Amino acid sequence: ATFGTLSDRLAETFKHLRTKGKLSASDVDGTVREIRRALLDADVALPVVKDFTAKVRERALGDEVNQALNPAQQVVQIVNEELVAILGGQQRRLQFAKNPPTVIMLAGLQGAGKTTLAGKLAKHLVKEGHTPLLVASDLQRPNAVNQLQVVGSQAGVPVYAPEPGNGVGDPVRVAKDGVAQAERSQHDVVIIDTAGRLGVDAELMKQASNIRKATNPDEVLFVIDAMIGQDAVATAKAFQDGVDFTGVVLSKLDGDARGGAALSVASVTGRPIIFASTGEGLDDFEPFHPDRMASRILDLGDILTLIEQAQQAFDEEEAMKVAEKLASEQFTLDDFLKQMQQLRGAGNIKKMLGMLPGAGGLRQQLDQFDEREIVRTEAIIQSMTPAERQNTKLLNGSRRLRIAKGSGMTVTDVNQLVQRFEQAAKMMKTVARGGTPQIPGMGPI
Ligand code: GDP
Repeated sequence: ATFGTLSDRLAETFKHLRTKGKLSASDVDGTVREIRRALLDADVALPVVKDFTAKVRERALGDEVNQALNPAQQVVQIVNEELVAILGGQQRRLQFAKNPPTVIMLAGLQGAGKTTLAGKLAKHLVKEGHTPLLVASDLQRPNAVNQLQVVGSQAGVPVYAPEPGNGVGDPVRVAKDGVAQAERSQHDVVIIDTAGRLGVDAELMKQASNIRKATNPDEVLFVIDAMIGQDAVATAKAFQDGVDFTGVVLSKLDGDARGGAALSVASVTGRPIIFASTGEGLDDFEPFHPDRMASRILDLGDILTLIEQAQQAFDEEEAMKVAEKLASEQFTLDDFLKQMQQLRGAGNIKKMLGMLPGAGGLRQQLDQFDEREIVRTEAIIQSMTPAERQNTKLLNGSRRLRIAKGSGMTVTDVNQLVQRFEQAAKMMKTVARGGTPQIPGMGPI
């Protein structure tokens, strides 16, 4: 899907960032270089890439990162914020005229998806309580009027079109008459479909520009096919010079486009992306949210969790605390439980271990690790009194029976747990003295 490769590449880049301590200038440069390459390979326009990476670099070297608890997460946040910025920042909604009808003109190359968009937009507006009229001003493409009538009827919206036989009419006139018709019949929105050519040409621009002048639209939406990659910027600029537009619609975001168009156009033209089209059906359409798109690209939830997990499970400070405890022989069942819970908190721990060099052995141990074991351990330990958790010597027969009942386990289960804890505590002491480390219940690493 669109952005798939870019997302993977960026995620890969962040994996290499250290989660602890300061980032050196060369850490940052390495990361920025990888981001730059990933963006260029995704067809993002060079000026946009340069600007983007310069901002990320500057911020990543600044205080907000060096003072952060977790520099890697901070860098990901910065990349996210800068992505939102190049996608236009705030969401921009469609603007309606104070005095209806609101006139919306569509412009763009042939095949960009204008006619389809007219239907999508009409359907969307009907849902929001509007009464749109579609106007067929694309008199160039032989089947365009008919196609608009088809999407119009699918959307349940009327279409204003020149009389049949009179088809080689004047698109500017049709557009004007369409708006007049909307006023007469009290439609509150008019959507004008216009002609596109396969490439940018002067005549096309002039026609579109004349339609604009004649109808004075509240919105001119430039529809661009996300699949056209590097050409997106030149096309967008040509339309900006020739017709100018108030907003952008990205179409075909469902395809295999590499995403460059989406990431370049708002930034290069300074015009917001208002809608995204994601399929041929009339419902494959959504208002564009820069922040949501950025998180989709970055898989932000996933990346941040991954970094967090890596930190949690291998938290040096926590490890130091445990070591201190061991040294002073204070390792308790509470600590034991906490360790197990950390392991579970790490959730997708195998995925995470992919990030660590030389974790193969540990990974094998984890393959044999049973999640249910943690649940059982939790139940038993939580049925103990705080005093019992501090000192297992208190656990006589009747106490063990009470704990078994309280946790829904057998006395044998309780005995086994206490035994395993005592073994673990012993092993941990070995670790504290520099012996072979072990995760409780899992044998030596
Ligand atoms: P126009 O020449 O700009 O009016 O473009 P059309 O609306 O006729 O669309 C050209 C082709 O692209 C048609 O086959 C549409 O079904 C298809 N299309 C339009 N929007 C999308 C989209 O978001 N995703 C996909 N996959 N196809 C689309």
